[in-house]
Amino acid sequence: MFNEELKFDRPLRWGMIGGGRGSQIGYIHRSSALRDGLFQLSAGAFDIKPEACKSFGVNLGVDSDRCYSDYKVMFEEESKREDGIEVVSIATPNKFHFIMTKTALEAGLHVICEKPLCFTVEEAEILKEIAEKNDLVIGVTYGYTGHQMVHQAKKMIENGDIGDVRIVNMQFAHGWHSEEVEKNDPGLKWRVTPEASGPTYVLGDIGTHALYLAEVMVPNLEIDKLMCSRQSFIASRAPLEDNATVLLKFTNGAVGNLWASAVNAGGIHEQRIRIVGSKASISWWDEHPNQLVYEVQGKPKQLLDRGHGYLYNDDSAVSGDRIGCGHAEGLFESWSNLYQRYAIAIDAKIKGDKERFENTWFPDINAGLEGVRFIENCVRSSDNESSWVKYK
Ligand code: NAD
Repeated sequence: MFNEELKFDRPLRWGMIGGGRGSQIGYIHRSSALRDGLFQLSAGAFDIKPEACKSFGVNLGVDSDRCYSDYKVMFEEESKREDGIEVVSIATPNKFHFIMTKTALEAGLHVICEKPLCFTVEEAEILKEIAEKNDLVIGVTYGYTGHQMVHQAKKMIENGDIGDVRIVNMQFAHGWHSEEVEKNDPGLKWRVTPEASGPTYVLGDIGTHALYLAEVMVPNLEIDKLMCSRQSFIASRAPLEDNATVLLKFTNGAVGNLWASAVNAGGIHEQRIRIVGSKASISWWDEHPNQLVYEVQGKPKQLLDRGHGYLYNDDSAVSGDRIGCGHAEGLFESWSNLYQRYAIAIDAKIKGDKERFENTWFPDINAGLEGVRFIENCVRSSDNESSWVKYK
């Protein structure tokens, strides 16, 4: 059980780019980072509009002279201070992720970036190289992968509880954009605009979440080939898709399918993953994150609940439960677990503690890079009449 006693000699000095007033994801970054006292919000370029940045930042408790009109100004000014920021989170529309991450790494800052990390594998490799050269951490916010039950599933699969993995069934298919809801909403409009969103809409926006959940649960699976079909059911979104289906073949003979959609009418969130093995299956659904469904062929279905003694409790991948069973833990706790892991990794880097860094799991640069590789291959396939494409 998480015991509130993990503390560094001081909290990490943290800045944010984006995540301003009314943004979709800003609050969850702040509530997760600040929850365990491991980060201190010291500066920000929170908003594309400088006046909005200042009023919002001051309201959050950031000194007015550390609410910046521009991220580059923030990096420059903060580098002159003894108490300048040492880590920055990027929660802006996708088109800024690459240049902001690169500039931050070049300024010597650790980075926590939203997905998709960037637009091309080439860009992701550049970021990886700079991070390695400057000995800096890149974390990517695949939010639900901090949830304990996702790691319970990983452990069960690792321990052979479902047998050999045969089928990986992934989906993130909501219905909120079944109509042209972006018409008068700039926060949605950029998502279906290629210059701001990148080469895809739902594949990058939500498909990569489902893919990374599978990567966490079954880390030894390698994609060999995939084929992708994508559509824009709201015609004005073309060339970006609002629905996509991907078939995957893994190098070990297992197969997979991934459905990403924003037009699954009636679907609330519908992020689900089902791993089918040779003797049993295991399923997780983000709308009921505290439960895993474990189905052994020929036996009654089992519902495993978070917090019980029958779960694998030796999981070092997450900080553990924040409260005993019976109470729901969801997205916020999962994100807090991730921010805690980012903090431990960054603290280990700062202190030169190689062993601690290497033993700290978190969605890192490779998680970001593989998400981008997936997107790139999906586009390559769908633009080529949905043919099978070799993954690497
Ligand atoms: P949004 O449009 O609601 O908010 C974007 C924020 O960034 C706004 O405050 C805007 O003013 C600010 N901004 C834009 N350009 C800026 C710039 N140049 N400098 C400083 N601030 C700038 O977008 P959102 O829905 O919050 O999404 C932001 C990012 O988070 C996207 O990459 C999206 O894919 C990602 N996201 C991730 C999750 C997740 O579960 N991990 C969920 C939602 C969104």
